[in-house]
Order: sequence, then structure tokens, then C-alpha cells
Amino acid sequence: MPAMPVEMDEIVRLCKQRGFVFPSAEIYGGFRSTYDYGPLGVLMLRNVKNAWWRSMVQLRHDVVGLDAAILSSPKVWEASGHLANFTDPLVDCRSCKERWRADHLEVDPADGKVHCPKCGSTDLTEARAFNLMFKTHAGPVEDEGSVAYLRPETAQGHFVNFLNVLQTSRKRPPFGIAQIGKSFRNEITPGNFVFRTREFEQMELEFFVPPEEGPKWFEHWCAERLAWYADLGIPSDMLRLRAHEPEELSHYSAGTSDVEFAFPWGWGELEGIANRTDFDLKAHAAASGVKLEYFDQATNTRYVPHVIEPAAGATRTMMAFLLAAYDKDEVGGEERTVLRLHPRIAPYQVAVLPLSKKETLSAVATEVLDLLSPQYMCDFDETQSIGRRYRRQDEIGTPLAVTVDFDTLEDRAVTIRDRDSTEQVRVPISGLLEEVRSRLGM
Ligand code: ATP
Repeated sequence: MPAMPVEMDEIVRLCKQRGFVFPSAEIYGGFRSTYDYGPLGVLMLRNVKNAWWRSMVQLRHDVVGLDAAILSSPKVWEASGHLANFTDPLVDCRSCKERWRADHLEVDPADGKVHCPKCGSTDLTEARAFNLMFKTHAGPVEDEGSVAYLRPETAQGHFVNFLNVLQTSRKRPPFGIAQIGKSFRNEITPGNFVFRTREFEQMELEFFVPPEEGPKWFEHWCAERLAWYADLGIPSDMLRLRAHEPEELSHYSAGTSDVEFAFPWGWGELEGIANRTDFDLKAHAAASGVKLEYFDQATNTRYVPHVIEPAAGATRTMMAFLLAAYDKDEVGGEERTVLRLHPRIAPYQVAVLPLSKKETLSAVATEVLDLLSPQYMCDFDETQSIGRRYRRQDEIGTPLAVTVDFDTLEDRAVTIRDRDSTEQVRVPISGLLEEVRSRLGM
């Protein structure tokens, strides 16, 4: 495992202090591993999702988008197998009453027994299957007929809309449906900050292919998805692709590989890429009585497409980007914290910093801000010394700072400072947009 340059505590502290992620309902003491995304977190999370959408939908011509309902018919979850199979093995400690996921507990080699991680007792119950879906009621009457579930994954929305999308988009296999949205799982042991929460965001693609092309497209998506994280700045030694052992495979999968990241506590999943075969379309066809097939006019054949699913977590991935970007170095004899985030992922691309609050500077600084804001997310900061403002921007990952000073009034030029090298160059305002574009590469 590559060494992680940062402790989790430091990232959690930075997230809180700078406004990335706050514990939810903090004034009431928080609420069970739920988190709120603050002014910077909401920008960064949106950037993660936009980068995914850009690479999956905008830059490809064989993928279309979807935004399906979070609350849907319980029949969907019955047919998909989630009601029967979407369970984790739950054990209780009879001594301290804590609950654990049995598959996360290890046998102690010293005595060959499983101990409660909290109190050390070996008096644990047998594992029992615990369904992770959040149950609720749709409508005013709480009876069996009104039971509904919050979706535990965004997928299934893709499958139940297969015909709608096929007919309206005029796509033919191989083609994909992409979706980003909230999912909910009643996790037994949420934790590690936003790595495992009960409410989270997913970015999922269901890619429909002719059955014989399944293995080829599975390889394609494994390579594509690994490259996505690396292209956005995660060092390749912090990423790996791990194929599931046969006993790990989900009930629907003919093969799964996970993209894993070197978290401070070890390798952890960012994304699962699964060959779901024709499991879902066949299951929904059998349960609904509606044929979910593709008719190929060219060959006059009808078939049920196979599905390759790259399923990623947006919130978990945002945390991986933060961990990978965190760095400390020395500038002018002083230690600084810097987030070396890719410009597409950083909350702000540019900070506009007038040297002083004097009105003469404010006017031209506002002009610079108005020039850049339609293209880039910009921060504007005119408080404190310029050195402290640079440090603040470094710490939140802003790639470029543009300083407006008193010379600007004479020469109509500004200083651009690069976050990583701290190098500064003077640029005329007339060429600023072009200079920023070429430096950010976007
Ligand atoms: P795990 O083994 O960590 O529970 P999983 O294999 O059940 O995850 P998938 O069902 O493949 O996860 O979901 C796809 C992605 O959604 C995961 O790779 C992860 O990034 C994200 N994800 C799943 N569960 C959570 C959660 N509780 N909190 C945050 N992200 C999650």
C-alpha cells in the first residue's frame, strides 16, 4: 500500500473548517453518520458528478441520461431480488449490545474466536440476514398495501425504463443509460466519515450489449473507469482494479471488478463494475409480463441484451479526491497545506484577490470577476493580507489566483499565481481569459 500523507482526522477537520462537509444536525449533537455538504463541498461534489456526466454522456455518443424516481413500486425491488437478497449478516454482542456486520469481523488468531471490536466479548449471536432497504409508507395509511422503499441503488430505474429509452432515444445495443442520484441503505455500521453513510449519491451506468459482446464490454468499462480516476489526478499507485472471488459475487453477477483506492485504513471500493448478464431485464420481464427485448431489424432477430454496470459512489469518490490531493510543503520558509485538486474537481477554479479594499481597486477587481465568472467558478476575497489569502486558496485547492494591484490601474495587467508552483506572472486583462483557459485546460 502506498503511504497516505494525511490522517483521516486532518481531512475531517479541514472539511469542517473550510466548509466542505459538516456533521448533519450538529446543533442537536449530530445524527448517526449523516453529513451535510457546505458551500465548498457542494461545489466539489457537483464537479465530481459533472466530470462523470461529461465523460459518460457528453463525450460519448452511445449513452443517454435518466433521472428516475427515488420512491417507486415495491414490485421493482421484489423482481430485482433486493427484497430477498439485499441483506448483510448482522450479529449482536450480548455483552455490550453493539451490532456488527459479521463479514467485517475477524477471527482472533490468538484464540481462534471472534471478539466484539468494542468490548472484546466472544458472546456474539449467530448472524442473521438484515435487509438494508429503508422502508416507508406512501400515502396516509400505514398498512401492508402502502409499503414503499427508498431505492438502495439508482439502478433498476434504468431497467424499468429500458423500453421507454429504447423507443424515444432511437439507440440500439451497444448503448447505455446513465444516472446520478441519491441512494439509501440502512447500513449496520456506517463510518469512516463519508465513506459509508446511510444516504449517499451514486453515479451508475447500465450499458446494454448483444449477449456475445458482454465480456468484451466488461473489459472496456474496467479500463475506462480506472483511467477516469487517474485522469482526474489520483496517482496510479493509489488505485487498483480487483476482481471479485467467485464467493463474493452478487446474486446477479457473472463477474465483478472493483476500482479500489488506498484509503488511510487500507484498500476500499470506489466503484464496482459488474457483468449483470440478462438477469435484470429477464427478472422484470417475468414479473411485469412486459417483454424487455431488442429487435434487430438488420438480422431479424430478437434478444435480451446483456448489461455491463459501472456503479460508482459520488460522495465516496469526493473523499478519495480530497485524500489524494492533500499535501504539505514549504513556501517562503513556512509550512503550507495545499490541496492539489484537478481544476475540474476543485471547488473554485480561480480566486480574484484585490490587493486592498480601496474602492479604486474594487472597481477593476469586479470587472475581472465579471470577465471570469461566466466561464469559471470564482471566489472573491478582499480581506486579510495577500499572503494569508493565498494560503487559504491553497488549502481549498483553487488552482489559480488573480491579483489586482495598484499597478493594474496604470497598466491594465494582473498577476496570475499558480497554486502548485506558487509562480507568479503578469498578464494583460485583455488576454486573461485565454491565459486562464490554457492553464486550466478547460
Ligand atoms: P460496500 O461493499 O462498500 O458496501 P457495495 O459493493 O455494496 O459497497 P455497490 O452496491 O457496488 O456497493 O455500490 C456502488 C458504489 O456506491 C460503491 O462502490 C460505493 O462507491 C457507493 N456506495 C455503496 N454504498 C455506500 C454507502 N453506504 N455510502 C457511500 N457510498 C456507498
